[in-house]
Amino acid sequence: MTLHIPFDNSYTALPDRFFARLDPTPVKKPALVSVNKDLSALLGIDPAALASAEGLAVLAGNRVPDGAEPIAQAYAGHQFGGWVPQLGDGRAILLGEVTGRDGIRRDIQLKGSGPTPFSRMGDGRAWLGPVMREYLVSEAMHALGIPTTRALAAVASGDVVVRERPLPGAVLTRVAQSHIRVGTFQYFAARQDTEGLQALMEHVIDRHYPAANGPLDLLAAVIERQAMLVAQWMGVGFIHGVMNTDNTQIAGETIDYGPCAFMDAYHPQMVFSSIDSGGRYAYGNQPDALVWNIAQFATALLPLMGGERDTAIEKATAAVHRFPDLFRAAWLHVFAAKIGISAPRASDPGLINELLDVMAAGQADFTNTFRALGTPAARDQFADRDAFDAWETTWRNRMDAEPTSETQQAALRASVNPALIPRNHRIEEAIEAGIAGNYAPFERLSAVLARPFEDQGEAADLARPPEPDQIVRQTFCGT
Ligand code: AMP
Ligand code: MG
Repeated sequence: MTLHIPFDNSYTALPDRFFARLDPTPVKKPALVSVNKDLSALLGIDPAALASAEGLAVLAGNRVPDGAEPIAQAYAGHQFGGWVPQLGDGRAILLGEVTGRDGIRRDIQLKGSGPTPFSRMGDGRAWLGPVMREYLVSEAMHALGIPTTRALAAVASGDVVVRERPLPGAVLTRVAQSHIRVGTFQYFAARQDTEGLQALMEHVIDRHYPAANGPLDLLAAVIERQAMLVAQWMGVGFIHGVMNTDNTQIAGETIDYGPCAFMDAYHPQMVFSSIDSGGRYAYGNQPDALVWNIAQFATALLPLMGGERDTAIEKATAAVHRFPDLFRAAWLHVFAAKIGISAPRASDPGLINELLDVMAAGQADFTNTFRALGTPAARDQFADRDAFDAWETTWRNRMDAEPTSETQQAALRASVNPALIPRNHRIEEAIEAGIAGNYAPFERLSAVLARPFEDQGEAADLARPPEPDQIVRQTFCGT
């Protein structure tokens, strides 16, 4: 069985200063953790060949497949608001691009594949925990219908990676519409490399936004996609955790699953990331964090806008100022459906926010409350049931005015409110077992999370919120 990956690379046609060419660094003793069969098929790669000895060598970075042109990409970014002129792929190698059966071009990247010229002080490696975590959470996100990078495979490397303690090394194969970030534009803008910036913009328009005509159009299109993306995150209680400009992807996919988390009990100021002590990227701050990043994107595009600089600034500012309205509309679209409303009214944001307030006060489980709406189980989610009962009465009155039947309303809710999300304590459990060489909990969780909108009776334990002693309060970066 020979592995054939139908590479068709475009990023390597960009000028040399966009990347460094280098091969992944081989690992000691690769062992397969998982191959994603559906995604392999979508990419036109035989999953059995990917799981073969030859495939394993490729996924581990021990062998460069035919047609690959391995590179580490250059980018910059603001991290927690502080400018870093050079970041870049410090622990990732882009093997190349493949156009899938759906006609979409995607990057295939190894993450944890050894040092690069952008590694700074890092070792270029990843350990098994964050690799399993990214695999589970990104695939769950995809199953939830939210744009995201995906996981094609995970392999254990047989090497030891030293973090707070020695840990098993691993490599994730990440698939993305591209790895171009706001920080990629910032990299060239900060160097006053207008030619590079122009080439990058043309590449991005060709690849992701063929209808866009120039930088202002591109800016508007990215703002629209990002507004919808963040609204969708909010709709499933997702906290990205590190919304730095290098982690805001231009194609509008969720990228960089580090200290991210899905909330159990709802609170708007919830933070999980161990490094986000100020709560900059708390659940409820995500729209503001995004608009901040979009403003950096607009700034980076200014040199391409031509004409007077003041006029360019005015136009770019006007585009950025559209974000709050776009976000409000996207948020209402998402949350109205969650409570069964298909024809939102001006007063509905108030109704939704009242529910969220009652949930925060009552420490209600975010996922299970929405899933249970309309059934007696909803009120059981609340510490203060009377407050919920009062809200429920108002809600039922509002629903009487909907053009849809009760059955249709329930079907709408069931199609957008998942029964299953990747809960932190279950991810931790799967990682602990994985470290001990037992991937059964990982596989079970993967399989269950592929169908998040179904009530899977045999997976009832995975739908339950953590017991007090199971609560995970902090999540960590993949580094
Ligand atoms: P991230 O936190 O994944 O967004 O990464 C921020 C920057 O740190 C990027 O330039 C990464 O490539 C780099 N980085 C993260 N972990 C490592 C590591 N273990 N070795 C080298 N570079 C790393
Ligand atoms: Mg990053």
